[in-house]
Amino acid sequence: QCPSGAITEKSHVRKVLDALDDDTKHVVVQTAPATKVSLGEEFGMPQGTSVGKKMAGALKAAGFDSVFDTCFAADLTIMEEASEFVHRLTKKKDEIPHLTSCCPGWVKYCEYFYPELMHNLSTCKSPQNMLGATIKSFYADKMGINPSNIVNVSIMPCTAKKFEVGREELEVDGQQDMDYVLTTRELAVLLKHKGIDLNTVAEAEYDSVLGESTGAGRIFGATGGVTEAAVRTAYYLATGSNPPADLLDWKPVRGMQSVKEAVASIPGVGAVNIAVCHGLENARQLLDGIKATGSSKWQFIEFMACPGGCIGGGGQPKSMDAVEAKKKRIEAIYKEDTGATKRCSHDNAEIQSIYKDFFGKPLSEKAEKYLHTTFVNRHDRLFD
Ligand code: SF4
Repeated sequence: QCPSGAITEKSHVRKVLDALDDDTKHVVVQTAPATKVSLGEEFGMPQGTSVGKKMAGALKAAGFDSVFDTCFAADLTIMEEASEFVHRLTKKKDEIPHLTSCCPGWVKYCEYFYPELMHNLSTCKSPQNMLGATIKSFYADKMGINPSNIVNVSIMPCTAKKFEVGREELEVDGQQDMDYVLTTRELAVLLKHKGIDLNTVAEAEYDSVLGESTGAGRIFGATGGVTEAAVRTAYYLATGSNPPADLLDWKPVRGMQSVKEAVASIPGVGAVNIAVCHGLENARQLLDGIKATGSSKWQFIEFMACPGGCIGGGGQPKSMDAVEAKKKRIEAIYKEDTGATKRCSHDNAEIQSIYKDFFGKPLSEKAEKYLHTTFVNRHDRLFD
């Protein structure tokens, strides 16, 4: 927080409390992967405690009508992004290097300072917004609810998500995907206000049909996670088989090194050079290198604005030993992945059925309408 108080966080706690008290509204909540390994810290639990089921129980006790999992939407993002990447590699080489787009802090930085690279950004919305758009279309239809009566709330590790929900480019038919974002810290405030203690609350499952997730969806919260998840599914798309063990636990893209480099060998596609970058100073240096040489040695680059990725986001619990906290949260995330029965996004049964029942296939016209977006050149606004 700003030490002089000149900058204050934009809190959505009151607005969410009001929505929960409004009987005419159907209030839906989703929880991001990084929040599930950090919320416990606000309730005195050790760093790196996985509290996903406790969190689902607490949100149900708080009165949310449906509790969905952003990890499901991370799997959905991977279906779209891996398909888009394979398409670019084989048919649209001018859009290579492929730059990830699920971090709104990074996307806005690119729009301000590297607008010439905007066409390299994946057009995929972030998991938060993919799920928001799906809730106000597919889910609203299925439940017979007017989308204008749905209030979409997300629990995010991130303050940049509060800006993202208001982006006009993310609207579908004039309707915002998401309504309110609570950071991990704000959710703790809301739960305490309602007298809910995470230590004692009963565990609950996430709600079907937007609640199943794989290990791939869960690792989105750590630097390198998006890349690892995308490579698992890109491998499947190219070969029809799941990746071998070394790609399922792909060590070169893990860890806190500022820029990690790796090569994925995918039969039928070849060797794919990949970089994973976290922290915007590292992004600046990497992008300036690309600008200076006019080319990139990587075909796929993951960018996350926060050091460590979302586990180190601006909305996460504060800690006197932040480095250790990030390490423990990352360990918890990979433990969840290793322990998951399914570790590839394309194996998620609810993902398979939503394509069958609604989107058709990745990159279909309907998927493009609800799950993809455009970007804005903000460079000139630097001088406003
Ligand atoms: Fe938000 Fe940081 Fe995660 Fe980007 S890396 S989505 S800014 S928490």
